[in-house]
Amino acid sequence: MNWISNYVRPKINSLFSRREVPENLWTKCPECGTMLFHRELKDNLNVCTNCNHHMVLTPRDRFEDLFDGGIFTEVAVPEPVADPLHFRDQKRYPDRLKSTQKKTGEPEAMLVAEGDMGRTPIVAAAQDFSFMGGSMGMYVGNAIIAAAERAVEIKRPLILFSAAGGARMQEGILSLMQMPRTTVAVEMLREAGLPYIVVLTHPTTGGVTASYAMLGDIHIAEPNALICFAGPRVIEQTIRETLPEGFQRAEYLLDHGMLDRVTHRKDMREELITLTRMMMNLPPAVKGELPAPTDEDAVEPSSAPEVTASEQKNTAGKADKSS
Ligand SMILES: [Zn+2]
Repeated sequence: MNWISNYVRPKINSLFSRREVPENLWTKCPECGTMLFHRELKDNLNVCTNCNHHMVLTPRDRFEDLFDGGIFTEVAVPEPVADPLHFRDQKRYPDRLKSTQKKTGEPEAMLVAEGDMGRTPIVAAAQDFSFMGGSMGMYVGNAIIAAAERAVEIKRPLILFSAAGGARMQEGILSLMQMPRTTVAVEMLREAGLPYIVVLTHPTTGGVTASYAMLGDIHIAEPNALICFAGPRVIEQTIRETLPEGFQRAEYLLDHGMLDRVTHRKDMREELITLTRMMMNLPPAVKGELPAPTDEDAVEPSSAPEVTASEQKNTAGKADKSS
């Protein structure tokens, strides 16, 4: 209306209010309902400080904690044909993709990177549950193949972090085709004699569980992660019986021989270092000698992997994403 409400007030607001809205400052734990302050939650690797629930962690945040000094090089993933079925639900598939890309700042549901983890060279791939439920479409298939090919090329182990609601229905049969494709990719690693470790995070379901997520040499899960093909509700409705407590959760699957380990997120890096060094016939890592996950000074140029100028370099502390 007037100069004060149209100009002065917004100006004052922009000066004093931080742009974060309260929902971004506080996160409600989906398991116990506790309100958690975002900084405290980030420091605790997105694990609820009250009930220990392991919340969704984006691939980029995960890699920043995984690689030495948070430094990694992204491995390029070939772009698949966009929307071959011209799929439409409430929204056109390309529009849905575009809005998700804008929301997450990522091109697709999987990130592939190479770098050093505890001075142990690895290739890692991580699925992004916040990107359309981490659904496996053609891009995710391409990403796993790119990761396996790169691992074979530079003779490094592959560590994959799975998180998915299953196949991407917008790509129909083409998404299901990623199950055999990724199985072939895993086979490439086997033939090259390279370790393939899968870390199953909450939730890993559907075609992902039925293919690459269950084909690892070692399967580690995060605590209480739901890991299944068909979910508990579907099974309950089909067999009309109440399922046992903790059914299809990580600890239950460990007891029944489906997993090798259940490991807390804070211990995951140490454990992956120990395992990869053991499987690659490298001397065991001496505690205290490894660079800390976020200590950038710890990575000397001599110990860092060769990075060509054309390769994109990622460093920790992307404040723009977390704010
Ligand atoms: Zn909680």
